[in-house]
Amino acid sequence: MIDTLKIWLHAGRQYIPDVTSVNLPDTFTNGRPIISDTISGDEAKLVAALCPTAAINPNPFSIDLGKCVFCNECSRALGNDKIRFTNDYKTATNVREKLIIRSGQIEPIKLDANTVRKEINQYFGNSLKLRQISAGGDNSAEWELNATNNVNFDMGRWGIEFVASPRHADGVVITGPITENMAKALQMCYDAVPNPKIIILVGTDAISGGIFEGSKALNRAFLNKYAIDLFVPGNPPHPLTFINGVLELIRKRS
Ligand code: SF4
Repeated sequence: MIDTLKIWLHAGRQYIPDVTSVNLPDTFTNGRPIISDTISGDEAKLVAALCPTAAINPNPFSIDLGKCVFCNECSRALGNDKIRFTNDYKTATNVREKLIIRSGQIEPIKLDANTVRKEINQYFGNSLKLRQISAGGDNSAEWELNATNNVNFDMGRWGIEFVASPRHADGVVITGPITENMAKALQMCYDAVPNPKIIILVGTDAISGGIFEGSKALNRAFLNKYAIDLFVPGNPPHPLTFINGVLELIRKRS
């Protein structure tokens, strides 16, 4: 007993009491970018050509976080005063267009409450079981999803958990660019989840294909058939990005 108390005192409180108000250090540079409106045409063309995933539209200048792999090359090329990736990790949204950040935009990325399906907060407000499907993923987003259940983030305290069987799930969380070899398995898994069910795309690869976009090895037809309930950008996303996005999605609304 004494030993247990000693360990407890030594370790201190490990869980994050309020995951919605965490300030990540400035060394985290995979958050929402702030883009100056003074980027010249030549500078825009330069960074659009550097970008490995065509996430930059030079005119009018914007960065698509659904395509961005957060390599920070554009920021290094033009300097932090022109493009700065901030530590704002609350970048998940249910509207794909909101992932496109334009010059001069300083507003945070939000969910559109009006387009959240009614069943979601009606049925999943207090409990949400999710089946994770790695559809050709590289294990990075998957590791971060694993971390959501560790002692720091403790996502289970809101009743949000990953389950082994799609029969026990309320929705699917897809990572990876969806390879041909995983397309059928993804469909079978989704079909096995009872209605109503939700779809969450986690990471750049899942949202746009990332660096694999356009590859013949992909089969992303699944995404054309269903509405996506939540986009969680990042390469990989931070656990707090996922948790805050899901909490906002299932939040009870009057
Ligand atoms: S940080 Fe994003 S937008 Fe900038 S070059 Fe890398 S992938 Fe492109």
